[in-house]
Amino acid sequence: MNLSFEAVLPFMNFNMSISKNLKHIKKQLPNHVALVAVSKTKPVSDIMEAYHAGQRVFGENKIQEMVDKHEQMPNDIEWHMIGHVQRNKIKYMSSFVNLIHGVDSIKLLLEINKQAEKHKRVINCLLQIKIASEDSKFGMSQETAKEILTSEQFSILKNVKVVGLMGMATFTNDTEQIKNEFKFLKTTFNKAQIYHPDLKIVSMGMSGDYNLAIASGSTMVRIGSSIFGSRN
Ligand SMILES: *Cc1c(COP(=O)(O)O)cnc(C)c1O
Repeated sequence: MNLSFEAVLPFMNFNMSISKNLKHIKKQLPNHVALVAVSKTKPVSDIMEAYHAGQRVFGENKIQEMVDKHEQMPNDIEWHMIGHVQRNKIKYMSSFVNLIHGVDSIKLLLEINKQAEKHKRVINCLLQIKIASEDSKFGMSQETAKEILTSEQFSILKNVKVVGLMGMATFTNDTEQIKNEFKFLKTTFNKAQIYHPDLKIVSMGMSGDYNLAIASGSTMVRIGSSIFGSRN
């Protein structure tokens, strides 16, 4: 057998640009901004490429997909659930998930607490605040977030900790609007910190808008396509 490199390449599923993209993005991030590499829909081989380049925090939006990848990949990876969470599926990730970004109800917090207790863990969560003008984006109002964080029902939960807020801006080219939505989330965070000092994280910013998000006070960006390439 005498196969040329070019002949073998298509079978290797080898994406040399991932580590380059990752380094390029890391260079732009201030020290106080954490990077969640959003690996949804991407194969384990692509994620391992980022892992070998030093990335340890990955975000998925489907619980089953995250569980499958978690089982196949190194143990020192931090898995973040960034998608909408269905209550009946929390049990599948409660043994290992590091941060759940999209918590949008007290009911969800109660179930996360219940599942975390079974594993004697405390699961960190972010409350998702609706900042976009579109109806399709999930999330709660800042008033609901306050109601939850100051409630008796929440205060007795021992196995869930709300450590920040998360938001998704409107899908638009209007950078003024995006900036205003991010600033609204940061202001909501600042106010909420007064009655809930555990808040440390502002999760906002994706491939198309992370620089705007950082300028508006983000401490955690969730970047997928700029690292792994576009998704189908
Ligand atoms: C897919 C996704 C991202 C990453 O989007 P990119 O535009 O690929 O960077 C970030 N946050 C959430 C909630 C997502 O679902």
